[in-house]
Amino acid sequence: MEPVYFTVGPTQLAPRLRTHLDEAFARGIPSISHRSGAFRGIFAHARERVRRVLGAPEGIHVFFLGSATEAMERVAQNCAARSSFHLVQGAFGERFFKTALECGKSALKTEAPAGEGFDLSAVAVPEGAELIALTHNETSTGVALDPASFRLLRKRHPKAIIAVDIVSSTPYAALDYGAVDAAFFSVQKGFGMPAGLGVLLVNDRCIEKSRAVLEGGISIGSFHNFPTLLSYAAKEQTPETPNVLAIYLLGKVCDDYLERGMERIRAETEEKALLLYGLLEEHPRLRPAAGSGCRSRTVIVAETPRGSAPIIERMKARGFILASGYGAAKERQIRIGNFPQHSAADMKRLAAALAEEA
Ligand SMILES: *Cc1c(COP(=O)(O)O)cnc(C)c1O
Repeated sequence: MEPVYFTVGPTQLAPRLRTHLDEAFARGIPSISHRSGAFRGIFAHARERVRRVLGAPEGIHVFFLGSATEAMERVAQNCAARSSFHLVQGAFGERFFKTALECGKSALKTEAPAGEGFDLSAVAVPEGAELIALTHNETSTGVALDPASFRLLRKRHPKAIIAVDIVSSTPYAALDYGAVDAAFFSVQKGFGMPAGLGVLLVNDRCIEKSRAVLEGGISIGSFHNFPTLLSYAAKEQTPETPNVLAIYLLGKVCDDYLERGMERIRAETEEKALLLYGLLEEHPRLRPAAGSGCRSRTVIVAETPRGSAPIIERMKARGFILASGYGAAKERQIRIGNFPQHSAADMKRLAAALAEEA
């Protein structure tokens, strides 16, 4: 039997990915011109389906980039002339912060204690921060923010651009597009695809901000600045030769999600997460790493007091590939991805195997 990848990205592939890939090759998709009518159809289809899967209104612009890390740089360049403020719960929030610094912004941050999130009704944000950067689901720690609380931040800081990294929470978590201005993800997590495509969603406030930054004489980058991306998107194209195959596959995976139903995907994600957290709560050796009020449903992190490597080895022998802890937590935590492509039946088998880790 083939192993099941419960890693956090790259991870298990979407169940019909191979079928879609074969069809793409049969149709010659990897060879078509990115200026052709055929590509424009692929672009328009993927854009419309991404909006539907994410529940984003028509007015939200969808840009295709190289990765989520690239999206951090684009947001830092286009959504802040000078200052940004970052809520950091772990390594990916830290990456966003450092990226803004590397783009020459006066970036400031506040850090949550390990395994904890933020109370967005109370967190202190400096007055005048142009950009507030959040990580919806911190893949390094398994800590998630409550998306309903984004509105509180918006209310307190109506002028700031609010940008959210949704890489490992989407498509499970529904976003309130009245509360955030920019959101981005890459496809190797909750879309079950090979890495190499980033998707950035922005509203008109972000576009206006990028024009204002440019008019102020500050660089907003070159071919992937927002005005350029927007002018190509109007023609259902990208400025450069994009990852045509991945854009095609993303549209197909979204078709599959819509057919399955987003409500059903959400309910299944919650059931699988409850199963794992229930197991970890009762387990003699393992316990959840994140505080009970901020546990991610899609990236489940467990403390492994006797070391992560032996568990990872034993699970591998049983056909389950797990991720180790991130960075300094490598040896003392395991991380388990719980994305739409992880079936309830496989999650039950994994839970049963972990229960035997006495
Ligand atoms: C994986 C991940 C990223 C980085 O994605 P890339 O596609 O490697 O750029 C950023 N943020 C979070 C929360 C992630 O999980």
